[in-house]
Amino acid sequence: MDKERVNLPLNEIPASWYNVLADLPKPLPPPLHPGTGQPLTPGDLAPIFPMALIEQEMSGERWIPIPQEVRELYKIWRPTPLVRAVRLEKALKTSCRIYFKNESVSPAGSHKLNTALAQAYFNKKEGVRRLSTETGAGQWGSAMAFACQLFGLGCTIYMVKSSYHQKPYRRSLMHIWGAEVFASPSERTNAGRGILAADPDTPGSLGIAISEAVEDAATHGDTKYTLGSVLNHVLLHQSVIGLETKRQLEMIGETPDVLIGCVGGGSNFGGFSMPFLAEKLANPKLRLVAVEPSACPSLTKGLYAYDFGDTAKLTPLVKMYTLGHTFVPEGIHAGGLRYHGTAPIIAHLAKLGIIEAKAYTQNAVFEGALQFARTEGFIPAPETAHAIRAAIDEARKDDGKCIVFNYSGHGHFDMSAYDAHLAGDLEDYEHPEEKIAEALQHLPKVG
Ligand SMILES: *Cc1c(COP(=O)(O)O)cnc(C)c1O
Repeated sequence: MDKERVNLPLNEIPASWYNVLADLPKPLPPPLHPGTGQPLTPGDLAPIFPMALIEQEMSGERWIPIPQEVRELYKIWRPTPLVRAVRLEKALKTSCRIYFKNESVSPAGSHKLNTALAQAYFNKKEGVRRLSTETGAGQWGSAMAFACQLFGLGCTIYMVKSSYHQKPYRRSLMHIWGAEVFASPSERTNAGRGILAADPDTPGSLGIAISEAVEDAATHGDTKYTLGSVLNHVLLHQSVIGLETKRQLEMIGETPDVLIGCVGGGSNFGGFSMPFLAEKLANPKLRLVAVEPSACPSLTKGLYAYDFGDTAKLTPLVKMYTLGHTFVPEGIHAGGLRYHGTAPIIAHLAKLGIIEAKAYTQNAVFEGALQFARTEGFIPAPETAHAIRAAIDEARKDDGKCIVFNYSGHGHFDMSAYDAHLAGDLEDYEHPEEKIAEALQHLPKVG
């Protein structure tokens, strides 16, 4: 068996998603209603999500079958390869083995399509006509646009204003796949108009764009909302990554010592690492490492507390590591990692000490990205490069470990960020302690 690139046949696309809620050592603190502070009921979510996804969000079933239609569409690019980074290993002169799971081969260029397709499918089945969503760097927006295109759904995307102007070609992708795209904050919603009135030059944030997309769905009967990360059902759909990885490692007789992923909301890291939770609980030496930017350090500097998922306080309260729902991070190029919170599942496991977290500044991240691109050839998304940087630092310990990281997406639409790094123009933002402290004063008083 060739160990340098492990491919699975089409019929080994997983038949079920893995739901880690069934195996958590302690139950997850429940989401709360933003008005009453009481635990959320399925009916509370019905205005913005279809019933099937609400059931998945709250399900305790370990395995949830993947509908045949979704599995067929996964065949467009799944199963994805597991690749050994032999040239990077050589450059590092390391005795460690480094593998990456290449999720960049999807049409949209990232892991996000794994859940976008599933979400579009379940909405379509319940008669929804249009989906609204937000996007930061544009990766989620483009995945959702393609998914809506496949299922004949309308798609309205609120794109964080700084990215809307910084990443015009991601906007092009969304337009090609038939979506309408608005810079957020926009004049289309109460939330957007309110923020523009207070600060006309705001660069926007994911928290603000979420407020706009949720309001759009809540005020239109034929429209539902989709979220590209954070929620339990999103991590559930992303479990195909880890399930395939596990099978691929088994095929070549490898046992991982360290599993690494970058964390924005936590969906690619969760989908990649959660299928290994049983192994982790049985073998505490297995390490699950979450990597985030120093400019938006929710896991490493945030507070574990109930908070809103958005700026306008429309979403339920979830217990997570948060920098505060009013936190607006610096305009770093890893736009997909600029979220004030984290998936409750990831936060819970970090709190329990089952996963560990690490933060890097931009230039360190881009140095890792260049070393990877110059050895392995693939040019990573700035988000993905956080995981690469951490994998390189692990390999430098030269202790013969098996390191596996999730290659969440490619960086073909991030050339201006690479140019800025090569020109020496990238700034390293350390965690802005006062800004975090300020934002944390606005946490809701519950829990
Ligand atoms: C969106 C995105 C991320 C961050 O989101 P998670 O939900 O934490 O996975 C990371 N990498 C890429 C390529 C992305 O598109």
